[in-house]
Amino acid sequence: MTASPADVANHRPLLTTALLRQFDTPGPRYTSYPTADRFTQTFGPEQATRALAALRGEADAAPLSLYVHVPFCESVCYYCACNKIITKHHDRATSYLDALEQELSLVVAQLGTGRPVSQLHFGGGSPTFLSDPELTRVMTALGSAFRLTPDSEVSIEVDPRTVTPSRLAHLRALGFNRLSFGVQDFDAEVQKAVHRVQSFDSVLILMQSARDLGYRSINADIIYGLPKQTPESFARTVQQLGELRPDRIALYAYAHLPERFKPQRRIAQEDLPHAGDRIAMLAGAIEGFLARDYLYIGMDHFALPGDSLAVARQEGRLQRNFQGYSTQPDCDLVALGVSAIGRIGGCYYQNAKTLPEYEGSLAAGMLPVVRGYTLDDDDLLRRDVIMALMCQGRVEFERIEKAHAVRFGAHFASELERLRVMARSGLVELDDQGIRVTAAGWFLVRAVAMVFDRHLCEAQERRGFSRVI
Ligand code: SF4
Repeated sequence: MTASPADVANHRPLLTTALLRQFDTPGPRYTSYPTADRFTQTFGPEQATRALAALRGEADAAPLSLYVHVPFCESVCYYCACNKIITKHHDRATSYLDALEQELSLVVAQLGTGRPVSQLHFGGGSPTFLSDPELTRVMTALGSAFRLTPDSEVSIEVDPRTVTPSRLAHLRALGFNRLSFGVQDFDAEVQKAVHRVQSFDSVLILMQSARDLGYRSINADIIYGLPKQTPESFARTVQQLGELRPDRIALYAYAHLPERFKPQRRIAQEDLPHAGDRIAMLAGAIEGFLARDYLYIGMDHFALPGDSLAVARQEGRLQRNFQGYSTQPDCDLVALGVSAIGRIGGCYYQNAKTLPEYEGSLAAGMLPVVRGYTLDDDDLLRRDVIMALMCQGRVEFERIEKAHAVRFGAHFASELERLRVMARSGLVELDDQGIRVTAAGWFLVRAVAMVFDRHLCEAQERRGFSRVI
């Protein structure tokens, strides 16, 4: 039994402050397993080339997922933890797109042209930093290298400050059918405190235009835990966003790690809401979205009942990748652009994080891959268990035992022992057949998943991650 939205609504009081205190430990978001901090430099251009070349031989040519990273932003948001380059010089995009096309040609040299793609995502930075002709240029290059399947999901992250209804029309004409708006918070004081000012009306007009233009799904990101936020102010943002009715909502917790992320040093510690207020904001947002008929999909995500993410959740078809939850079958992900992370079969790889390094490798005719990871059998087994918990909220021992030739109880004896503690706290249910995440546990699902993460064995290794809540 996993947590249905009704369960969540009915049982939310089970998610007590005491539970949050006990299980709110720093942890990964499991958009991959192992997480990117485990990647090493022993995986480089040669290994990535081999992994791509291996895909060429696949007779049935399974559709790929593609990710394109555009690192530029015009101004910095103080909460930002992304890999980005702040600049007002739009001409910097030209040499970046030259490098991106060079990378594309190296990838296609291994894969062959015309490979089907069922999912294409532009992320950043701010992909809409690119002008309309520049976006046309990238889409034309991708279109001659790959073949988008008729039902493909083509999505882009949109900074409302950089687009107009006519720009959204251009994106639609290029084939984009999904938009993700960075909203974060509508409160003027909070917007000033994070250096990201955008009016409610501008977002309203853009979302309305997007609907008129026939975008299939509109997502909005909001963040709780930002400076100057209060439970009352955040409740207003939740209400305003509910009125805009995006198909999907991603509700993220702000993680204040100024020692790691320089822009966050502009945020005064005393402006941050305290733990009790953060929990109140989270609880209020969950209640607010459920009351407006959104379904709770899983970690951070809500969707309207007709949205494909909600349907996939109900049919047990959810997947998880670097963009969060996904409806696409578990496909290989080819990543393009500075700092982009890809996944091919049992390998993850990441491109250089700085522009000089990225462009330098490509100028030398090499893939700009600087680190990666090849999963061993134990990683593959644990990835299967962790993704089953994160996406379906349950693990069936028999399926895992057949897929990985292990005895679950024997292999995971110590993990099951730790889960029994969580079971006593009401986060999971355990029996001879498997593990089920309860309604209350669904809000702390990554703490449950962390039990199976062998790479998190030492406490100091966990310090760099954001908090579970
Ligand atoms: S939050 Fe987004 S728009 Fe703001 S600086 Fe970071 S990447 Fe750029």
